[in-house]
Amino acid sequence: MKTAIQEFMKKIELRNGHETEFLQAVYEVAESIVPFAEHNPKYKIHKILERIAEPERVLIFRVPWLNDQGEVEINRGYRVQMNSAIGPYKGGLRFHPSVNLSVLKFLAFEQVFKNSLTGLPMGGGKGGSDFDPKGKSDAEVMKFCQSFMTELYRHVGADIDVPAGDIGVGAREIGFLFGQYKRIKGEFTGVLTGKGPEWGGSLIRPEATGYGVVYFVAEMLKLRNDSLKDKRVIVSGAGNVAQYTIEKCIEMGALVVTVSDSEGYVYDPEGIDAVKLAFIMDLKNQKRGRIKTYAKHFNCTFIEGQKPWSVKCDIAFPNATQNELDEADARLLVENGCFCVAEGANMPSTPGAIHVFEQAKILYAPGKAANAGGVAVSGLEMSQNSLRYSWDREKVNIKLKQIIEQIHQVCVKYGKEESGYINYGRGANIAGFVKVADAMIAQGIV
Ligand code: GLU
Repeated sequence: MKTAIQEFMKKIELRNGHETEFLQAVYEVAESIVPFAEHNPKYKIHKILERIAEPERVLIFRVPWLNDQGEVEINRGYRVQMNSAIGPYKGGLRFHPSVNLSVLKFLAFEQVFKNSLTGLPMGGGKGGSDFDPKGKSDAEVMKFCQSFMTELYRHVGADIDVPAGDIGVGAREIGFLFGQYKRIKGEFTGVLTGKGPEWGGSLIRPEATGYGVVYFVAEMLKLRNDSLKDKRVIVSGAGNVAQYTIEKCIEMGALVVTVSDSEGYVYDPEGIDAVKLAFIMDLKNQKRGRIKTYAKHFNCTFIEGQKPWSVKCDIAFPNATQNELDEADARLLVENGCFCVAEGANMPSTPGAIHVFEQAKILYAPGKAANAGGVAVSGLEMSQNSLRYSWDREKVNIKLKQIIEQIHQVCVKYGKEESGYINYGRGANIAGFVKVADAMIAQGIV
């Protein structure tokens, strides 16, 4: 089987040689799907995995804008329209200096499987720019967003491609992007999700990714007659996903002892409570400050330039970014007694790290399953926009929970091994694949 996977990867490498993140994401899926397709030859005959690994369309465009000094700045904009077999392209926009085609192709590829897992009719896409919102004024961010949308508007639409947020793109950016789209097209439609609640956004969308990851962990623990109560938790990141992961963990009685950003991590042995979380939210969302301010304010340790993986815990949530947790980190986590890792970020664990989790037979929830709550509520936002109606918090939250429970169930269905160990990674890949693959076969060679 190893050779079949290698042969498949050789073809992908030939076409995408230097796109390391994209190759990593495809390899992780191929490890589950190539053997699965051997037993289900229709997927092999129709070359479904080869087709899924080739974007339907990639758009790259210039984004010129004027900074506050009146100087011309030029960034590169992208939209990867990966797969539309089960619905319009759907996925976030990332604004970060690390953005390149490889990163966006890996994210778009993951999105195809993730969106399929939600059970909602959404294809997969991703976009963004190497623009760095850090240190930019609101006016500069607005000018950038307007320029970005002035090109993107011709490629997106409520029934075509529906972008949303990701790293560096939150409520502020979605507002500027939506305003420009509406101005150009002269229509008010659900072209973006993550909108403000007053203008077509869904309640619970900001909370959805973080809440969803914790709901997923609660489901994994329930299978073992356990819960999050009194568990010691470490979290990386301090953005939207980390914030609402912490909120839900606190609500479920867990003790969260770390939070981090690109400068380092905070270790708070007494645990982050509601007051401290409110401080983080204000610091990160309003003041756009650095997490070390927390350590100073609450008199605890800040460990500069490091990630929190050496801190003893029961459960770890890598919620920052791709490849933030490597094989050595994974070993340290397992040695220190961590028995559950749930990915709020996309592809935060390296292949070596995943291998360690699987060998140690600990609970490992891959991002495409565990963090699907965000895009799931984006899907619910699309439904509400089509209905020209908005549901209350309770209704959206119940639906979010149901979707996560159903994702957990299909992961168990396809991921359970003879020993009883549940390989959630394989389960998520196969369950996400089957729906898209069957739709592609039904729609012919397009
Ligand atoms: N960027 C998020 C993700 O990685 C959400 C995308 C969306 O809501 O469309 O799934």
